[in-house]
Amino acid sequence: MSVSLQFADMSLSAPLAKAIAKMGFTNPTAIQEKAIPIISKGTDTISLAETGSGKTAAYLIPLISHLLENKEKHALILAPTRELATQIGSVIKEFTLFAPEINFAIIIGGAPMFKQIKQLERKPRIIVATPGRLVDHMRRGSANFKQLSHLILDEADRMFDMGFAPQVNEVVRRIPVQRQTLLFSATFPKEIRELAGRVLRNPVEIEISKTQLPPKVISQRMIAVGAANKNDRTLDLINAATGSVIVFTRTKRRTDRLARYLEEYGVKVTRIHGDRSQGQRNKSIDGFKSGLYRVMVATDIAARGLDISDISDVINYDLPMTTEDYVHRIGRTGRAGQNGQALTLVAPEEVHDWTQIARKMGLPLPENASKSKSRPNGHIHQHAHRRTDRRDNQRNNPRNDQRKWR
Ligand code: AMP
Repeated sequence: MSVSLQFADMSLSAPLAKAIAKMGFTNPTAIQEKAIPIISKGTDTISLAETGSGKTAAYLIPLISHLLENKEKHALILAPTRELATQIGSVIKEFTLFAPEINFAIIIGGAPMFKQIKQLERKPRIIVATPGRLVDHMRRGSANFKQLSHLILDEADRMFDMGFAPQVNEVVRRIPVQRQTLLFSATFPKEIRELAGRVLRNPVEIEISKTQLPPKVISQRMIAVGAANKNDRTLDLINAATGSVIVFTRTKRRTDRLARYLEEYGVKVTRIHGDRSQGQRNKSIDGFKSGLYRVMVATDIAARGLDISDISDVINYDLPMTTEDYVHRIGRTGRAGQNGQALTLVAPEEVHDWTQIARKMGLPLPENASKSKSRPNGHIHQHAHRRTDRRDNQRNNPRNDQRKWR
């Protein structure tokens, strides 16, 4: 990687260069350095890149550059979650600050249809959409997608995990074959290879690192705990954390329950999961970003896309379903070169699943991992101490007073 390549050397159009400078970006990240020249040539690309790598700008910079020079061109960006789509929208807004002719629309579920129809009638140069809602519009004929020249599939693996394959396929069938397609994915499982084979033409693969593995600055630790002590232990870990914390749980109900528990002990906590309205989710994310809440309890829906810096700890209250999800979860911390901690609570019944993840991640295996299947309650050390009154303990914790957001 060259040491000194700067955006200023990239001969980008003036409004874009100005916006990039205003955003404070001087040097491209590794993925940007590789992808921007290739994408600028009009080549289809498959990029293995995670959130945090600068992937959004890696496609938006060449895309906006192209749209500025080709007034008739239009782009569609598909993202798995509303949060990611909204976030991409805010990055577009920054990049087009000095290019107001590049109008864009965010087409996501949970927002009123009629407003989106109006937005689509204005023929936005860029549409950022979640697949389900976009297909609704396509079927209604709310908008004409015949002019699309660019398709970007962001977090393609996540779109598949969330069951959006039929919608993605339908979108692809309804847009012009003549187009440039860019696929970004943190992992590259079989389904994504198959999709890439169908949807992209002679794609160039761009890989910056072994993205199956998270950045080195994240320290990962497994904490053996009895299932009944998870709440207690989580509270301890939150109190010991130096910054904001995301706690991942398996289900919406567990998210609600844990958030209530933490609230009882005075933790400034918000929660995010699929049953919360778009307004509630935005409020949670904004409040978490601004420091109003120090802790966010979330299901995996929040694991991707969220660009929140200064998260010191990710706590896996429940194990993720897959190693890929684990990588995405813990990728929320240790961003932009900062250090982070990923702490995974493992109850005896989870030891077997944890062993699978730990093996893939190259982490130390639980002591009696090989026996864990047959002896789930074997020699795993459990966190046994219980407090008589956690509420007092919380109140008397001087660290809680020192932190402005608590
Ligand atoms: P992303 O992977 O697209 O979610 O980007 C992760 C973070 O990196 C975001 O906060 C971006 O604003 C930031 N970022 C992206 N590109 C650059 C760059 N070239 N220089 C500095 N920060 C960047």
